Amino acid sequence: MGVFAAKLLNKDLTIKRFACQFNSLQVEQIFLQSKFKQDKKIAQFLCCTIALLTIFITFFDKMIIQSFFWPNIALTGRSIIVSVCIFSAVVLAYIQTLRQFKLAISLFMVFLSISMQSMAYTFDRAYVLHLFFDVIILITFYFSALLPFKLSAFFGWAYSLIALSVIFFTKEINSHTSYMVILAHVAVNLTGMIMSAHQHLMRRELFVRNTQLGQLAQEMQSQAFKDALTQLPNRRAFDNSYEDYQRITKQQQQKMKQVCVILADIDYFKQVNDNHGHEVGDGILELFSTFLTQSLRTSDDVYRFGGEEFVIVLPLCSVSDAAKIIENMITKLNTEPFEVGELSLLIRASFGLTVMREEQQKSVIARADAALYEAKGSGRNQLVVKI
Ligand code: GH3
Ligand code: MG
Ligand code: MG
Repeated sequence: MGVFAAKLLNKDLTIKRFACQFNSLQVEQIFLQSKFKQDKKIAQFLCCTIALLTIFITFFDKMIIQSFFWPNIALTGRSIIVSVCIFSAVVLAYIQTLRQFKLAISLFMVFLSISMQSMAYTFDRAYVLHLFFDVIILITFYFSALLPFKLSAFFGWAYSLIALSVIFFTKEINSHTSYMVILAHVAVNLTGMIMSAHQHLMRRELFVRNTQLGQLAQEMQSQAFKDALTQLPNRRAFDNSYEDYQRITKQQQQKMKQVCVILADIDYFKQVNDNHGHEVGDGILELFSTFLTQSLRTSDDVYRFGGEEFVIVLPLCSVSDAAKIIENMITKLNTEPFEVGELSLLIRASFGLTVMREEQQKSVIARADAALYEAKGSGRNQLVVKI
């Protein structure tokens, strides 16, 4: 959801219903950008349809055009319309910005009104036909919702004004017909505006729903890879990152720097729970997680593997540097107690260090686990390296 990557807050997603746009200009821009490609295709499709219809109409309407207009003026006029439509469809493919798009559609609308009305001018008293085309153009224009609501209303009414002027100033019509023609134009514009407003609002509401769904999916995904208590990435996150670590392992030419994997386990943690309760145990787990992250470089990763067991990954680190980092941690754990509420507890841990090879995940974890097991067996509160 390229678009959904932007972290939009719910309050930004409110719609100004009367203007048919978002309250926030930034959100409006993101929304317009999200439908830009689709709108360009709709506009191109409409240009091609108008070109085809013009060719089709020209083929059949020799009968009703005044003979002195045919074929010279009519044919030249129709050729211009078809050429401009095809030209516009091509130009639209090269349009990059929303501003250019708005300008192109506006210019096309101006051209369409002028050319359609000059076409109407060449008809002889066929008002019903004029009206038929005008209604189709207006409905298509409003329904496609390519321009902002206010701008489309402006073009719709302007189009009708030009169409009505052509009829009243160049044709002889009786008052009954003129009422009907005016009524038709007013009705189409009002209906068109309602249709357009509905389209604009519906598309925005859909955008809001999609954005919220996207955010929810993202939130759920990040929750699925995060441990709820310590906020550290969990075992599933480690599974996910494993390929990246393998890539680094493969790329690593300089053999001194490798991907070091350390399994850490708090010593006698069960006693903390038994002596002080589960809540204190949870507090210790949170403090221990913070301690681990703060003792490492920003490029290093810590995962809560389960219970009081953590996996530390030091990419591009020599074994001696990794061992130094862990030894420093052990020294610090032995001297600085964790403060949980009123309590001040010295928490110790055992560490098993190994180096990642081009291998399955379970192999590297098994090696680190064997090192940890040895550390536990040799009295805990220490690091064992097993390469
Ligand atoms: P060792 O030194 O051999 O590692 O002993 P230990 O007591 O740390 O290990 P053991 O595996 O016997 O006990 C781990 C305890 O961790 C048992 C379990 O109740 C506790 N534990 C696991 N997850 C949580 C948790 O999320 N919160 C709390 N408070 N305790 C937890
Ligand atoms: Mg333990
Ligand atoms: Mg354990």
